[in-house]
Amino acid sequence: MPINTRDTYKAEEFSKVYRHALRTGDIGICRWNIDKGKIYISEKITGYELDSFKDFKEYLSKIAYYKDKDLALQDLEDYFNRNTIYYHSTFRVETRAGQIKWVLLKGKIFKEKGDKVLNVIMFNVTGSKLHEGHDVLTNLINDKILFRKLESSIKIAKSQNKKGALIYIDIGNFKILVNNFGIQFRYELLQNFSQCLNSLIGEYDELAKLPSDKFVILIRSFNDIKEIQDMCKKIHEYFERPVNIMDIQINISLSIGVAIFPDDSSDVDELLKFCDFAVSQSKYLGKNICTFFDKEISESYFRKNLIVSELPNGLVNNKFYLHYQPKFDISANKFNSYEALLRWNNSKIGFVPPNEFIPIAENKGYIIEIGKWVMEEAIKTAASWNKKGYKFETISINICPVQLKRKDFIFYLLGLCLKHKISPCQVEIEITEGTLMETCRDNIEIIDNLIKSGFKIAIDDFGIGYSNLSSILKFPISTLKVDKSIIDNIENEVNKVLFKSIVNIANHLGFKVIAEGVETKEQFDILAQLGCNGIQGYYFSRPLPKDEIENILKKSF
Ligand code: C2E
Ligand code: CA
Ligand code: CA
Repeated sequence: MPINTRDTYKAEEFSKVYRHALRTGDIGICRWNIDKGKIYISEKITGYELDSFKDFKEYLSKIAYYKDKDLALQDLEDYFNRNTIYYHSTFRVETRAGQIKWVLLKGKIFKEKGDKVLNVIMFNVTGSKLHEGHDVLTNLINDKILFRKLESSIKIAKSQNKKGALIYIDIGNFKILVNNFGIQFRYELLQNFSQCLNSLIGEYDELAKLPSDKFVILIRSFNDIKEIQDMCKKIHEYFERPVNIMDIQINISLSIGVAIFPDDSSDVDELLKFCDFAVSQSKYLGKNICTFFDKEISESYFRKNLIVSELPNGLVNNKFYLHYQPKFDISANKFNSYEALLRWNNSKIGFVPPNEFIPIAENKGYIIEIGKWVMEEAIKTAASWNKKGYKFETISINICPVQLKRKDFIFYLLGLCLKHKISPCQVEIEITEGTLMETCRDNIEIIDNLIKSGFKIAIDDFGIGYSNLSSILKFPISTLKVDKSIIDNIENEVNKVLFKSIVNIANHLGFKVIAEGVETKEQFDILAQLGCNGIQGYYFSRPLPKDEIENILKKSF
């Protein structure tokens, strides 16, 4: 078939561009005649003389950076074994001059005159966002490469009866730092942090950056667990000193989580989840903590997962119920209010305390539906008590930030009051200091509107120090509930002074002060003497089922 001039022109132009790219070292080509055992390579990316190789495998072994050799050879083997359509590989090469570059190889086997020939094009993708191998900012390997390396490390560890470790590192104050100092600061921080970590790890260890700004160290093999403990200690010690980023001295707080393979698991996904869970435990425990995924942690991990999977069934199967704990009014010498406290009895797990499942429900978004159920159930109960003529001032409902921030929250609550014919002033919302501060920062009207609609607001767990008193006092809330931790040591002079000053300010502004978790007569006497208005705690009553509360209400006619 005659070639038309336009095609000829195109082909000439193409070959000019192609030759140019070959010369600049942006691309390279390789042809390996597998049947005849001949190889032709033209590339300037690595800087090697390339006619001395027996085959493509030997070539790969020569150019691949030592940490990525296994990966490069594995990709080729996978192409031959799995018969995928294309050969595709991303790894680092170490050039003859000792430079590290990222390359992307794409290829395919063709039949040429009866011979099988592998044609490969190599792209220099260093610093480019096009390839999938590394994090552009820190130049570290990313999650995709890490997972593959972990997979092969697990295989090797198992076959050689060895152990390896995965170490997750999370910068605890990362968000706060970035919010304070901006995006450029984030770049510098991540770069600086990755360089510091790199200087602390061993020659054969791998440092990777995950998209979530978490860092992971892969220790391919170790002999004694102490080596891993020492490494974590070294990392913590290193970052105990302030770090200088953009001329700002900052303190970095780290949480570390470790999982061991194949002991903890030989599954890549599972190991990563275990590490993530260990990190979250470290965060929960405080600053600069390192947690190993041991037997105990593993139990709480599986329990948490079970709770996550069982929670949605709680509402469907009617497994939630409320207990009510009375609040005692000292001057009136009787119970005046009842706090609704959620209970959950699950057929597989048994009784799960609210402190355990509520944070999970918040985190997974289930709290909205569960919270709606709590509000309706509590308001329905209060309405039924009104109908029966029982005397009480309020029913209290615990509300968390996710609920409060919903635009429909107040309408839902007002709707319930209307439906069950109860006045909003009989409903008290208990929110913690932290919730109040968080909500106010974003949307001050939420609290204002609740108060204007007649609802009462109590500040729960007060005194454990999220905020200063003055920021809370801006709102005409009804009650401060002083946290049990202060009441536990109320005989202590410092706590007495603290409590007395809270009472003085509150009285001045027209709030009531309630003491939570009062267990003994001694505590009660001290609190009454200090001018406390109300008491809640086991000393008077534990949270009780509705019918037992009704027995109390009947007597206080
Ligand atoms: P909270 O609101 O601070 O409730 C007080 C907790 O202390 C309750 O635990 C109560 O049973 C317990 N308590 C009361 N008096 C005493 C005492 O004298 N000694 C001791 N040791 N404990 C006492 P509970 O019922 O396990 O609830 C724990 C937390 O779970 C609550 O703390 C609250 O933050 C949350 N919670 C409970 N129900 C709900 C709910 O319906 N919604 C939301 N968002 N949170 C809830
Ligand atoms: Ca409460
Ligand atoms: Ca409380």
